[in-house]
Amino acid sequence: MARVELQQVTKRFGDFQAVGPVDLVAEEGEFLVLLGPSGCGKSTTMRMIAGLDDVTSGRVLFDGTDMGRTPPADRDVAMVFQSYALYPNLTVFENIRFPLKMRKMARGAQEALVREAAERVGLSDQLAKRPSALSGGQKQRVALARAIVRQPRVFLMDEPLSNLDHKLRLSTRAHIRHLTRDLGVTTIYVTHDQAEAMTLADRIVVMRKGQIVQVGTPRELYERPGCAFVAGFVGSPAMNLMRGRIRGGVFRGEDVQIEGLAADDGEVILGFRAEEAQVLSEHMGFTGCEISAPLYELEPLGDCVMVLVEAGGAMVTARAPREFEARPGDRIRIVVPPNACHVFDAETGARRD
Ligand code: ATP
Repeated sequence: MARVELQQVTKRFGDFQAVGPVDLVAEEGEFLVLLGPSGCGKSTTMRMIAGLDDVTSGRVLFDGTDMGRTPPADRDVAMVFQSYALYPNLTVFENIRFPLKMRKMARGAQEALVREAAERVGLSDQLAKRPSALSGGQKQRVALARAIVRQPRVFLMDEPLSNLDHKLRLSTRAHIRHLTRDLGVTTIYVTHDQAEAMTLADRIVVMRKGQIVQVGTPRELYERPGCAFVAGFVGSPAMNLMRGRIRGGVFRGEDVQIEGLAADDGEVILGFRAEEAQVLSEHMGFTGCEISAPLYELEPLGDCVMVLVEAGGAMVTARAPREFEARPGDRIRIVVPPNACHVFDAETGARRD
């Protein structure tokens, strides 16, 4: 396993700067996730690490060695893609063995490694089949086994779960986490799915428009997002983000007033999570920290009900007990504790508190 470092890396396609400049480190054995919306440059960053794309400027280092002149085949990375990329005419066994055959390893050693990798991904009884006879989840496990069998220094995975249905995605996700932890190989994983990033990552790198906007553990990003973009991208449901103004520690926006905030005066975006607010019953007195707005919709989720109202120029959600009842248009009061609030600059989106 290796420490992977990017120093001031950029990628330009013609006039278009797709990535960077980006500085980034994946520590030895770390599971690093690149997370961001479509087109933000995740795959391009990964391809530069693999050597499939040249960097326009900057350096990619493995264990301190510049990989600039090292072709992909010699970087000792194993890649897993969304589109399994299996050879249809080869059996599962032959697919997994393929990289070893390329290395001209002795047959006996090849067979032992293939069987071990197949065992690890739970495919020992499928080795004679061709890919066409496998489910999507099994195909992706063949691709994983083919990556493991090479015993690479680095795993690179680009949206490997995207083609799987919801249930398979969850089980394969757990499998990938377990496997990589077990093997201790440095892994860089690309996804636009925040839930995937939260469950897999040691650290998440959030990207936007070719730039890194925040790096942190899943918990750090959830509890203290550095900007409104990360706040709105990480966590489910997304953090509520309302527009308004702070004066003397009091936030005021359309149908909202929240007192006791520790942030300077100014135009802001105020964030809070649905699970940290409380829906009030009608007969309680004014709390000083609440939204009071007509109900837009209720969304029953089984264990609770999501209450949706329009306030502060946004659709705001709050969690209520599952027995909560109201009709669209009924006035709803939602208490938002000031210590659960995040304050971002209205213009730049940067954190202010
Ligand atoms: P997705 O999740 O949709 O794959 P991404 O975050 O991985 O998105 P990239 O594929 O890295 O994004 O693309 C980043 C930007 O660079 C996009 O705007 C894309 O259109 C552009 N781009 C990527 N490859 C090329 C290329 N070969 N030529 C020109 N532009 C490209």
